[in-house]
Amino acid sequence: MEFFDEAVNKTKEVFETVSMKTSEVIATEKQRFDMNSLKAKREKDYTALGKIYFDIVKDDENAPETVKEKVEDIKAKTAEIERLAKEIQSAKNKLICKNCGANIAKNSIYCNICGAKIGDSEE
Ligand SMILES: [Zn+2]
Repeated sequence: MEFFDEAVNKTKEVFETVSMKTSEVIATEKQRFDMNSLKAKREKDYTALGKIYFDIVKDDENAPETVKEKVEDIKAKTAEIERLAKEIQSAKNKLICKNCGANIAKNSIYCNICGAKIGDSEE
């Protein structure tokens, strides 16, 4: 019986060690998940702070040079974004003539380049 008890105790010990390792692994994964989720939230905070700071310094002549450079980068990108948005908007209001390929106003009846009839109205 002594041998049997010893074997049972040994098994218990092994089982406890294994389950402890498993819970350690789970704890580590949870910590990793929590850490990465905090990192993502922190990135959003940095971005939000950047926007607040941009509004404060965007017209400040006394801002440090490094800040002024970034402000100019952002202003240039904003201008380019607005330009592209206008292009997209005006492309939406245009048609391409099936006859000559010209860009023409969406409500045209005839192509102002080649005179072909436009659209599916069969008048
Ligand atoms: Zn045409």
